[in-house]
Amino acid sequence: MIDYELDGKVAVVTGGASGIGLACAHTLARSGADVSVWDLDEAAALRAADEVATHGHRTHTAAVDVSDSAAVDAAMADVVSSLGRVDIVVANAGIGGEAAPAGEYSDEAWHAVISVNLDGVFYTQRAAIRAMKATGGGSIVNMASILGQVGFTTASAYVSAKHGVVGLTQTAAWEHAADGIRVNAVGPGFIRTPLVEKHLDQDALDFLASQHALQRIGEPEEVAELVAWLASDAASFATGTYYAIDGGYLAK
Ligand code: NAP
Repeated sequence: MIDYELDGKVAVVTGGASGIGLACAHTLARSGADVSVWDLDEAAALRAADEVATHGHRTHTAAVDVSDSAAVDAAMADVVSSLGRVDIVVANAGIGGEAAPAGEYSDEAWHAVISVNLDGVFYTQRAAIRAMKATGGGSIVNMASILGQVGFTTASAYVSAKHGVVGLTQTAAWEHAADGIRVNAVGPGFIRTPLVEKHLDQDALDFLASQHALQRIGEPEEVAELVAWLASDAASFATGTYYAIDGGYLAK
């Protein structure tokens, strides 16, 4: 297991109670960071924080809906007052949303996805920048997707939000490089998490696996390794970039 040498750093992971976010929280804590787990459900965040605390570093939780900008700002202020600073923010919370072709996509379904997967990342990134400026910088990792690079039938809102996350990332990287803040986007292929497993049967999972060069879907921990590297000082020259971690999905 790689130690990304994050001792003394404070990390926030949104959507940290499940799937990729939970794996990120573990990998960051395993490498020495104090971790604040944010999620919709307070009990789930507390359960995750208990697990993450086994790595021996401080934990903190916030029950926060990332689509609520005031809640995001309040949670970031609480992290600073509880853990002293913010060095790493993983804007990971996201939902799948309604499956329908563009011509039949409802207003409600569109706004539901955009408000979490794009507005939520914008609010989280903005709060992170403000907190990091106070202490001389940090690393923001925004969770995009392979669907931040290419389309996917029946997923207009998800695909649009993830493309937007890549643009937000590139723009913020230029705007805040001089503040010592690096901003990158991570684009996983299909990953075995509740988000995927609760919507898809085995046939669909097998088909999706076949769309990756490695002929399988990925595991959350495989994404977390890239996130932790981007969070670390080893990635000191990495900013403004989209990093696929996709088993070769985009290579065809
Ligand atoms: P997951 O297992 O469902 O975890 C997402 C977590 O975020 C859940 O705990 C969820 O809570 C929480 N959440 C949902 N809406 C939220 C909100 N408004 N505010 C705060 N927390 C919220 O999903 P995952 O697969 O790990 O996905 C994590 C991220 O990776 C997402 O941005 C997703 O788009 C991205 N991603 C996933 C895949 C994949 O194949 N799994 C591929 C590419 C990118 P509830 O469970 O209560 O809803």
